[in-house]
Amino acid sequence: MSIPFIDMAAMHAEVRCELDSVWEELVSTNCYIGGPAVEQFESAWADYCDTRYCVGVSSGTAALELALRAIGIGPGDEVIVPANTFIATAAAVAVIGAEPVFVDVDPATLLLTADAVRAALTPRTAAVIPVHLYGQPANMDSINRVAAEAGLAVVEDAAQAHGATWNGRKAGGLGTAGCFSFYPGKNLGAFGDAGAVVTNDRALAQKIRALSNHGRCQEMPYQHDLVGTNDRLDAVQAGVLLAKLPRLDDWNAGRASAASLYRKLLCELPVDLPAIAPPAVSANHLFVIQSDQRDQLRNALSRANIGVGMHYPIPCHQQVPFRRTSRGALPVADGAACRLLSLPIYPHLTGNQIDHVVETIRAVLNPASQIELADGMRV
Ligand SMILES: *Cc1c(COP(=O)(O)O)cnc(C)c1O
Repeated sequence: MSIPFIDMAAMHAEVRCELDSVWEELVSTNCYIGGPAVEQFESAWADYCDTRYCVGVSSGTAALELALRAIGIGPGDEVIVPANTFIATAAAVAVIGAEPVFVDVDPATLLLTADAVRAALTPRTAAVIPVHLYGQPANMDSINRVAAEAGLAVVEDAAQAHGATWNGRKAGGLGTAGCFSFYPGKNLGAFGDAGAVVTNDRALAQKIRALSNHGRCQEMPYQHDLVGTNDRLDAVQAGVLLAKLPRLDDWNAGRASAASLYRKLLCELPVDLPAIAPPAVSANHLFVIQSDQRDQLRNALSRANIGVGMHYPIPCHQQVPFRRTSRGALPVADGAACRLLSLPIYPHLTGNQIDHVVETIRAVLNPASQIELADGMRV
């Protein structure tokens, strides 16, 4: 039995007709940039996130850059970023000329904490980026509290947290601005690169839209008031996202059942399971376990044709561009980096597939069970 790390075939089969009509619609309307699909998706995504505004953009990375720039972050500013995240979180800060300040993460959830933010504050700190990594929102009550006290903007990196909630409120709508990626493998994925920023701040949304569209003034399209970029959301991607959005909650429910079956079957094995930290409800984008025998597990799973990943084996502050500026050791992120392993998870992952993944793990961690299996004695 071969189990891919991500399998989108079953999701796409469910919306095949809708996807087919995206192309027809596009060819018949000739609206490739902007137009009804982009507007409809922006309004649907704002509704889904319970925010007033949504600006579709070209990627999750662009979403972060544009949100930070529109808030006014730039050279001379420090932005607090968790060390355990995808590199784009930190790179977005650096490319706009600001300085990412890496902080350690919570040992249980591997997420940013308010205490770490407080300890990293300097007079130059201008913003913080809580990353809702693996799908689980960081503690937004306490992070927002520290941010308010210190006058920081809060830019959520919700690229892995479509539909996740904190205290019943959607990830992305909890700070100054929320940034999403619709990279194909995310919980809601386009057929290429795409992203969005959501916010309740009208002026901020307008500025993000202008920056993403050559700094163009909305009322006078030949007038460019800002130095912008071309980071718009394509109409074809908006069409795909609109076709898939109605299924997102069901797909997230499928991920949640897969995660709970993993938990049930793995709980007797010597691996650390991802912590659940209420009132966060995870979107279960990734299922990340930790083990001292990570590399043996990784090899055994790969040999068994089971797709695995590592998120992330090199923490951001250890990556080449950031090594020089990072301030001291971050023991939790460093320690987790060589222990973490991401197992296959997607909405249509079956119980049999999960069983097979867990049995392959069991054979490595508890070789005796393999002998029992071979003897047919195990019940
Ligand atoms: C995917 C991802 C991004 C970047 O999104 P792209 O659309 O690939 O640019 C940023 N942050 C996190 C946490 C991500 O998972």
